Amino acid sequence: MSDTKQGFATRAIHDGQEADPLTGAVNVPIYLTSTYKQEAIGKNKGHEYARLTNPTRDALEENLCSLEGGTSAHCFGSGMAAITALCTMMKSGDHVVCSDNVYGGTSRLFDKVLVHYGLSFTYVDTTDANAVAAAIRPETKLVHIETPTNPMMAVTDIRAVADVCHAKGVELSVDNTFLSPYLQRPIELGADIVMHSTTKFLNGHSDGLGGVLVGTKPGHAETFRFVQKCTGGILSPFDSYLLLRGVKTLAVRMEQHDANGRVVAEYLARKLGTGKVFYPGLETHPQHELAKRQQRGFGSMISFELGSLEAANRFATGLKLCYLAESLGGVETLICHPATMTHAAVGAEGRAKLGITDGLMRISVGIEDVADIVADLEQAMTR
Ligand SMILES: *Cc1c(COP(=O)(O)O)cnc(C)c1O
Repeated sequence: MSDTKQGFATRAIHDGQEADPLTGAVNVPIYLTSTYKQEAIGKNKGHEYARLTNPTRDALEENLCSLEGGTSAHCFGSGMAAITALCTMMKSGDHVVCSDNVYGGTSRLFDKVLVHYGLSFTYVDTTDANAVAAAIRPETKLVHIETPTNPMMAVTDIRAVADVCHAKGVELSVDNTFLSPYLQRPIELGADIVMHSTTKFLNGHSDGLGGVLVGTKPGHAETFRFVQKCTGGILSPFDSYLLLRGVKTLAVRMEQHDANGRVVAEYLARKLGTGKVFYPGLETHPQHELAKRQQRGFGSMISFELGSLEAANRFATGLKLCYLAESLGGVETLICHPATMTHAAVGAEGRAKLGITDGLMRISVGIEDVADIVADLEQAMTR
């Protein structure tokens, strides 16, 4: 059971995960079942069909709910499935205000799919709470932000935006994928809903996709449970198990990601100049003080400018330890090229507006020995 007086690392290991009452097994079993035997018509042990509930997924949901400090959590087959489920809270005619440099897949879902269902979206620089206030209309139902943003690492003041939203009767959802609940807890800062691509730091081992919505009101629990049941985009028992296993080490992993991130950012700033490195942990970052205040650390996501596509490709093909790959948040260092990978769908004009150049690279610093990571970057950079 959740005991909010216990520390984060303790809750990450224990919440939702009592030793198995049948055998004493310390890990929650992977319940591979689609259905459950019923004792009589209308009489069951709390489970009827696995699209609705599965004990492995239930354990995970209780765990993630505790870590984010919400009142409910519902897991989906991917981060995108979670955002899609979030948007089913809305009806045709409703309007959403969104951070202008969100994950490329989020704006693609909004602009290429959900607009056809009568929803409309406005993108604003949410680092400016006044810009959020100005974009809210009578038909606005949700403000969806990502902080720090992908890939420019702009930091939004969650408390300030939550105040703006609540003054206007609008809910605030925060994509907390880049920091994980260990480094940032948006609900404590006033957010109504937290969303994650659990594929990233929560899983932490690059071996499974997933998404979660953590709610704070009875209506959230009701809606998201109903969406799981109606649309079926749920997380499988096996992936739920992988995620439970990953989250057990979240606290120690995030400490090391954060420590390694700081070292790599300082190396890059020395090598390229601070103006070419985007990381909230650098004193030169425009929202450094805010990041210090609202985050427990700065994380390990860093973007840096190499000047041209040619220079970026020379660097990328010279890497020996770090992988050139999409995604982030794994124990291994991953480096991506936003212009052709995560933000290809945004288009050249959209990227120019956000400052995503062809020479920009994004690194998700892993938890290898940091000297080895820096040595690899150095040899690829000076090739
Ligand atoms: C990866 C990612 C998503 C999408 O999640 P998937 O699990 O890939 O569907 C959403 N938001 C952010 C910030 C991400 O990094």
